Amino acid sequence: MAWANDILKQHGLKKTDARLKTLEVLRGRDSAISHNDLETALGESTDRVTLYRILNAFEEKGIIHGIVTQRGGMQYALCSHCTEHNHVHNHLHFSCSNCQKTFCINNVSFHNPNLPQGFLLKEFNLSASGLCQECSGI
Ligand SMILES: [Zn+2]
Ligand SMILES: [Zn+2]
Ligand SMILES: [Zn+2]
Repeated sequence: MAWANDILKQHGLKKTDARLKTLEVLRGRDSAISHNDLETALGESTDRVTLYRILNAFEEKGIIHGIVTQRGGMQYALCSHCTEHNHVHNHLHFSCSNCQKTFCINNVSFHNPNLPQGFLLKEFNLSASGLCQECSGI
């Protein structure tokens, strides 16, 4: 739990069991996770509202980011280089059409697009779909 402790400390968040557990669940996965699946993974010790608050706080602090999946649901994954005031997710989100998992592909990154004058960029997401490593069998 040392890693999770450090993350909370770094971001000025109070240490709670639920927060530590949530971080560990997120880190233990190679793909993003939905609110429902997180709730299941955490078990009965953490209720829906608590988890909702945890995810909000984590997102605000630049610890996790939300990803709108191809089916319109929301999933969460750890951020790799974000801070509270600088959330940058110019990496690719890959959805597997077979297992329905969503992956952050951090080594495929993009520069922000050049927008016409007067357009202010707030979010820039790129997504792709296909088969993940496991499902493609390659
Ligand atoms: Zn982020
Ligand atoms: Zn897959
Ligand atoms: Zn991502």
